[in-house]
This record gives sequence, C-alpha cells and structure tokens, in this order.
Amino acid sequence: MPRPIRASIDLEALRHNYLLAKNRAGHAKAFAVVKANAYGHGLDRAMRALGEVADGFALLDLAEARALRAAGITQPIALLEGFFEPADIAEILALKLTPAIHCDAQLAMLERARLAGPIDVLLKINSGMNRLGFSADRFPAALAQLRGMPAVRDITLMTHFAQADDETGIGAQMDVFRQITAGLKLPLCLANSAALLRFPEATGHIVRPGIMLYGASPMPDLLSAEAIGLRPVMSLTTEIIGVQDIAVGERVGYGGTFEATGPTRVGVVACGYADGYPRHAPTGTPILVDGRRTRTLGRVSMDMLACDLTHLPEAGIGSPVTLWGEGLAADEVAAAAGTISYELFCALAARVPVGVRGDAA
Ligand SMILES: *Cc1c(COP(=O)(O)O)cnc(C)c1O
Repeated sequence: MPRPIRASIDLEALRHNYLLAKNRAGHAKAFAVVKANAYGHGLDRAMRALGEVADGFALLDLAEARALRAAGITQPIALLEGFFEPADIAEILALKLTPAIHCDAQLAMLERARLAGPIDVLLKINSGMNRLGFSADRFPAALAQLRGMPAVRDITLMTHFAQADDETGIGAQMDVFRQITAGLKLPLCLANSAALLRFPEATGHIVRPGIMLYGASPMPDLLSAEAIGLRPVMSLTTEIIGVQDIAVGERVGYGGTFEATGPTRVGVVACGYADGYPRHAPTGTPILVDGRRTRTLGRVSMDMLACDLTHLPEAGIGSPVTLWGEGLAADEVAAAAGTISYELFCALAARVPVGVRGDAA
C-alpha cells in the first residue's frame, strides 16, 4: 500500500472561485492566473475546470502557453513577463499569445523580429513596485515605439500593485499610473486578487486574479477566504501511522524542540517537508485529526510530523488527517508557519499523488 498522503483538487470549487472573481470584476474580463503550474494545482487540472469559462489566462512560461493551446484553449493567453529571447517571438505570433512588454530590451527584440503580425501586447508600467515595467520617463517613448510597429495591434496598459493586500493599498501607485497614462484611451489591466476584492476603482478592462481562484485569501489578516465566499480547491490529507504516549519532560522529534508538560498522546502523521509541508511550521500549527482540530508538536521531519492526540482519545493509527484544505484553511496553516498560502500550494511535492473531484461532463 502506498503512503496514505494525497492531495485532492476540487475542480468544482475552482470554477466557483473563478466565477466569484468574474462576478466581482463586473464588465471587465477576468484572466485566470495559472502560472507556476496553476499555483501547484496542475495546469491541466486548471484547464479542465476553467477551459470553458475563463475569459483568458495569464502565465509566465512559453511551454505552459503551448500546452494550453495544444489542449484547445482559444481564449487570450497573457505572458506576464513577456519573452526572453528573439526566438520566442515567432512562437508568440504562431500561438497568438499576448506578451507583456516591460523593458527596452524586449522592444528592441520585437523591432528586430519584423513580424508579419498581428500581435496584441500588454505594455507594462512601473507605478512604484519597482519590479518590471517602464517608469514615467521611459514610458512615452516605449508607447510610441510600439505604436510604430505594424505588427503590433492592440496595446493594453498594465501595472501591478505591491501592497493591494495591506493597509497601504494602491492609492499612491494609482496616482502615478494615472499621471503616466493621462489622456490615453487604451484599455487597462491592473488588478490582482487583492485589488479586485478591495479596490473597485482598479478593475479596468482586464483583471488578473490568481490566489483567490485557488480558494485562499490574498489578505488573510483582513478578510478570510470563507468571508469572501471562496472554497478551498486543494486538500492535503493523510493518516496517523504511529502513536506514542509520553510523560512530562519527554521530548518529540529532531532537536527535541517540544517538551511535554504533562502526559501527552502523540500522533505520528505521514507527511513531512518532502511532501511540501513547511519545515518551519512550529509547534502549535493547526491540523485536523478525525475532523477535529489539534496542533502539531515539535519539528517537521522529511516524511513525518507529530501532532497532539491528548484530547482525542478515540484517534489512533489510521485516523484521517487534514494538513490543509476542506475544514482547515491553508491561510491558517500558512500564518502559523510564517508564510502565505501561495507558498504552501506551490511547494506541493511531486511525490504526493493527486486526485481530482468535480470534473465537468
Ligand atoms: C501572480 C500575479 C498576479 C496574480 O496575483 P494574486 O495575488 O495571486 O491574485 C497578477 N498579476 C501579476 C503580474 C502576477 O505576477
């Protein structure tokens, strides 16, 4: 028998979350962000859920875009980092992709490619995040250069917010963006999940929700996924494979970082950091056993971790365990571990078998 750990991906929940995002977007198109293998959920699975409903898709990798087209996806596909070398450009045309253009080097490559066209592009503006994009001083020339290229058809203005999920918000970046783009009548592509949920003024013509599609909150400190109406898509489950009864003063796991302060019943869980569970999750990280909430104990090892069964006397070997997903928000586990749900999902290890629920048809 294989180890009992498995991930379950709920395609129905993914569709539900997409439609919620779409609904929030009003008249704007919602491009589903499926970069990084659909945030660890599997690009092919995301396609099965969203292929019929999404207005478009956004990702980074040309190979992933190729896979979407091969699977019959005809909607627009945005390449959020554009292209990396001249050889990419012919394929972008052949596959009808919409690259972001964020720097002079890309403009020069596009100019030299002398494409028969047409391609649509996202002209990326740096409004303050200082990651990718043209700043105010370079933007007018970039726009003029793109407009002068016969192969370039539709130009959409794009920017990305650094703090849509916290108290700072998007005000300062929107001011910069409005200044840079004053008087232009071009369509806008601005909002990630957090901006879509919090700042209707940033909806623009195309929104780019990512994390919310997968049922986690982009700002769990301000608003839970449940309060937003999102449903978890990935559930990571396993079983108890061992039990130890320990006395006061005994320790659990590598480094002995947990010391029992009273008689403690320790459940050993078949999940470790080699499965994608964060090693830095401390004692006290929430976990479900038999659907009941308890806490992890001690250090996470490669293939196992420990949890507290002291108050769950009926639990034992074979009891079902949920690491995150249905019944336990990934956001809560992430917060306890000092990270974000994005990282938990993306870290799901290849060795974990994945099952799918809610296939259409
Ligand atoms: C990842 C990404 C998104 C989606 O962000 P979420 O916080 O997951 O909604 C949107 N736009 C860009 C440019 C991104 O890189």
